[in-house]
Amino acid sequence: MKKYDFIIAGGGMAGLSLAYYLTQSPLRDRSILILDRDQKNRNDRTWCFWENGAGPFESIMFRRWNKVSFHGTTHAGPLDLGSYQYKMLRGIDFYAFVQKELDKFPNIERSQATINRIKDTPQGGFVIANDEPYIADYVFDSTFMLRTNDPDRHNLMQHFKGWVIKTEKPCFDPKQPEIMDFRVEQHGDCRFVYIMPFDTNTALVEFTLFNDKLLTDSEYDADIQQYITTYLNTGAFQIAETEYGVIPMSDTPTEENPSDHIVRIGTSGGHTKASTGYTFQRTQRYLRDIVANLATTGKPNRKSPWFSNRFKLYDSVLLNVLEKNRHPAADVFTRFYAENKPVNAFRFLDEDTRFLDEIRLFTTMPWWPFTAAFFDVLRRKFVG
Ligand SMILES: Cc1cc2nc3c(=O)[nH]c(=O)nc-3n(C[C@H](O)[C@H](O)[C@H](O)COP(=O)(O)OP(=O)(O)OC[C@H]3O[C@@H](n4cnc5c(N)ncnc54)[C@H](O)[C@@H]3O)c2cc1C
Repeated sequence: MKKYDFIIAGGGMAGLSLAYYLTQSPLRDRSILILDRDQKNRNDRTWCFWENGAGPFESIMFRRWNKVSFHGTTHAGPLDLGSYQYKMLRGIDFYAFVQKELDKFPNIERSQATINRIKDTPQGGFVIANDEPYIADYVFDSTFMLRTNDPDRHNLMQHFKGWVIKTEKPCFDPKQPEIMDFRVEQHGDCRFVYIMPFDTNTALVEFTLFNDKLLTDSEYDADIQQYITTYLNTGAFQIAETEYGVIPMSDTPTEENPSDHIVRIGTSGGHTKASTGYTFQRTQRYLRDIVANLATTGKPNRKSPWFSNRFKLYDSVLLNVLEKNRHPAADVFTRFYAENKPVNAFRFLDEDTRFLDEIRLFTTMPWWPFTAAFFDVLRRKFVG
């Protein structure tokens, strides 16, 4: 059996990004096998995120915006992003771009196969896919199914369905996406619509919920339809594409390094920000750290300074406010984006703020619901 330096189990967003970063590093000549059951030749999702300056996938960005709009309780209108841009990357463009780059490297193999088993052995990380065994110094696994069901933790989901619609009348502002529009019936949880305009007549309109109960397909559809009828002057329209997704919003602990030769990456590795569901940029950052560590020390293990663990506590507090419905979510997010500079809000979500900036940001939140949530989080953590 051939031994690889690295096996990448799952060639989706995290797996392909990791392979790409390896080709951009001193490790570019290592033997790498990428296994995925899909061909990744469909536009199965789009990623939106904010970024300061150009990123590694700038050349394939589908849209970039300097302004975004937000519709909440006391603010409706644009938010100034300062030096940030809000960006949109289509899955299909990302897969095609990275696969083309990887094809330049004869030491990188890609195989379409279903992974049946991944386990650690004294000789390395061992994978069985389509009944064939493979072994490597390190297996990077983005196929592990997270179990976010610890009853002492907060286990919400971000779930959404979106329609890309082509409208008869021009009704979208292509210069300004709507990142959250809370004018939808809240039903006691957190629900909003997200609009990413491609041009004046085409946009992704996505109905999104943060809670612990999925809807039926027809319920999502009814809510999107109602939003369009109530707030968009589309005239007749056609649905060109649909998108559905569920992203964990959970503070159940995850393991990036479950054993010596296995590293979990992407959603499987806990790279999703628990309080927002944003995963794309965070995964990119962590993967760059993993590759830098591999290149300098031969080991992929990523260490975060202990003080950065405070962000996990903040995530739990917001999840607690949402789970217990301690304060209307629409007002929490309005205060967050409209009473702080959006630049500071993004920096905070990127976990790049200093403690004093964080205190300033907390003073814009309703103090009692957040204080009650803070003590409930501590109680659940230490008392159970
Ligand atoms: C529809 C949708 C939209 C999203 N939009 C955003 C967004 O706008 N911004 C953001 O930050 N995050 C977003 N996310 C969250 C997150 O960024 C994505 O889910 C992202 O694709 C996660 O990357 P990943 O590599 O962990 O998983 P995936 O990209 O899902 O990759 C996992 C890969 O493993 C393969 N695989 C799984 N099991 C097996 C097996 N047994 N054998 C072989 N192959 C296997 C799959 O085929 C897949 O290619 C979105 C998620 C979804 C579902």
